[in-house]
Amino acid sequence: MSQYNDLKAECYEANLLLPEYKLIDLTFGNVSVSDPARGVFAIKPSGVDYAVMKADDMVVVDFEGKIVEGTLRPSSDTPTHRRLFQAFAGIRSVVHTHSRNATAFAQAGRGIPCLGTTHCDYFNGEVPVTRALSAAEVQSDYEWETGNVIVERFRDLNPLEIPAVLVKNHGPFVWGPSGRKAVESAFALEIVAEMAMKALQLNPQAEPVPAYLLDKHFKRKHGTGAYYGQPA
Ligand SMILES: [Zn+2]
Repeated sequence: MSQYNDLKAECYEANLLLPEYKLIDLTFGNVSVSDPARGVFAIKPSGVDYAVMKADDMVVVDFEGKIVEGTLRPSSDTPTHRRLFQAFAGIRSVVHTHSRNATAFAQAGRGIPCLGTTHCDYFNGEVPVTRALSAAEVQSDYEWETGNVIVERFRDLNPLEIPAVLVKNHGPFVWGPSGRKAVESAFALEIVAEMAMKALQLNPQAEPVPAYLLDKHFKRKHGTGAYYGQPA
């Protein structure tokens, strides 16, 4: 009996939501869920098919990168997840996908502008894109440096208010307070990316929503004054 069964189950269930929400092709995607009190997180094993994966296959890793429990190799993106857990206090889950519309923005080197209220409900402003990684960063500790460029991009941004980023030439990383919430935000990101792309096709000069509308929508769902939905 593992002391990490609950953590592994939450991680497993969140990973299964990726194919359910059609956020992944092949095995490009992973979710991790952390237990900050114990200094560990569970993450999807590397390259395992979602159809055959079991909760017990989740790998438990500590915040220093040491495998605590598990027989499979953890996702190759594990150092990126670890970097984000270290840097962003208050998050418990990280999701990485190559969902197509968000990845198209990443490949174009563009953030996703906040063009409508669907976006405002999840992200308090533009979803930013990172700078490109340098040759040295790619050739040294690539996945860790991917985490570093994300942290660098958030130097003046609040990761709890904008829980997503696009890594240039790569794709989205999204985070949240639970596995389920983080995957929901990854799904919302894909939806707003598709909407933004279509809006920009219809009107390349489309402007971001005014600050008062962004503020209204974001704050009615988040923070102390939230009143949207039912109390938790
Ligand atoms: Zn990737």
